Amino acid sequence: MSFSTLGLSAPILKALHEEGYENPTPIQAKAIPVILSRKDVLAGAQTGTGKTAGFTLPLLELLSQKKVSEGKSAIRALILTPTRELAAQVGQSVETYGKYLSLKSTVIFGGVGINPQIATLKKGVDILTATPGRLLDHVGQKTIDLSRVEFLILDEADRMLDMGFINDIRKVLAILPKSRQNLLFSATFSDEIKELADNLLNSPVLLEVARRNETGGGISQAVYILDKEKKRELLSHLIQDGNWKQVLVFTRTKHGANKLCEYLISKEITASAIHGNKSQGARTKALEDFKSGSVRVLVATDIAARGIDIDLLPHVVNFELPNISEDYVHRIGRTGRAGNVGSAISLVCGEELEYLNGIQRLIKQEIKQITLDGFTSKQVYVAEVKPQRGRQNNPSRDQKIRAERNSRNGGSSSSVSSKDGQARKPDNRDKKPWEKDKKATHGDDRGQKSYGSHSKTDSKPQRNTKFSQGKKY
Ligand code: AMP
Repeated sequence: MSFSTLGLSAPILKALHEEGYENPTPIQAKAIPVILSRKDVLAGAQTGTGKTAGFTLPLLELLSQKKVSEGKSAIRALILTPTRELAAQVGQSVETYGKYLSLKSTVIFGGVGINPQIATLKKGVDILTATPGRLLDHVGQKTIDLSRVEFLILDEADRMLDMGFINDIRKVLAILPKSRQNLLFSATFSDEIKELADNLLNSPVLLEVARRNETGGGISQAVYILDKEKKRELLSHLIQDGNWKQVLVFTRTKHGANKLCEYLISKEITASAIHGNKSQGARTKALEDFKSGSVRVLVATDIAARGIDIDLLPHVVNFELPNISEDYVHRIGRTGRAGNVGSAISLVCGEELEYLNGIQRLIKQEIKQITLDGFTSKQVYVAEVKPQRGRQNNPSRDQKIRAERNSRNGGSSSSVSSKDGQARKPDNRDKKPWEKDKKATHGDDRGQKSYGSHSKTDSKPQRNTKFSQGKKY
């Protein structure tokens, strides 16, 4: 299938061609026609599947088709994202794919001055990408007019809920025009997401291409089991011995990120830390340095690293395992993107074995264990891979951890996209993960379902009665 069969016009096809995109990814092939037919969408797709273009392309098409009234542009499309860096990234996609259209777009998020944003909004924009907090600041200051919004997109909605944005989202929904097209993208479908979807969407078409517990096919995973105090030494050994040029390292805490960064620098490995306590300027610089290759290691906490899209990022290291198993999938998804191979290494000490088992159950896979002389543990490690039962490993525990994290965190980071000659291509180098082994990588065989009466594939409407029947926002 090619993009030209999906109903996109020449200026968009030209921009896609210049980006080197030849064929739509599964989520794009499914989402673009549905969105163009003006239906609400509930899409299950993780980062790395091409979901951003999946909603941006039809959005640009619809906005450019409809004649705009004379005079200044009005905000007709609002895209909400959980983090600043994702907002910047989505905003960049809008610019890239829409460069041959006469639509105006901008991005607003916190941590940077509000006045330049006010000035840009005053001049008029058609497409606004925003994080909820700063958007509400503008609403409070009456520096934004959302009365003409026709399209609302919630990107990474599960992340937004994880980060405690539900009340902000409700406030935004309350001031939007009632008649609009809504698109909700989420990697996971918790009960909270279903409730939000049920209240927000009108007879949505359900699109699903990637199961939430699937890890990318191009990622080789390995684990070292060792004593906690040996971890930083092993990390610096791996970086130096392997001559790694670009590695994203995850720690659980901001303090831990700073300390690890200092240690690496003391070993003459260039490193920066990125987390919620850093100023926006410091985060942007850290990402730029990492992207340009002037810094080899970026040490990040989970929230700061969400949505980071670094082309050809070759290595991800879990210096500490996340205590929510799903975060492991998100973390390692930073590498092996868009058809490239990557390595994801986890350094695991005795007290984290429980997390490791939880992760292996979630991904239904035993992660290969590597041993290295001098970096082992006296702990006896027994792999425990059991089929996952139910929706989550331990929903109540994970929910509790999320709630605690929400009260601790808030910040995020800035956009990044980088090339690094270090990344190796797989043998079938021209193929994207979605082209290789659909079953293994994306579970693409489930196709498209509809909750409403619009579906061509299902004869019976499948309104999910489990969703709560609350009021429509
Ligand atoms: P996303 O899931 O939206 O974060 O996209 C993941 C990566 O895939 C990004 O680096 C995109 O530039 C890339 N990408 C998106 N759509 C396509 C496509 N149709 N062909 C090739 N690469 C793509």
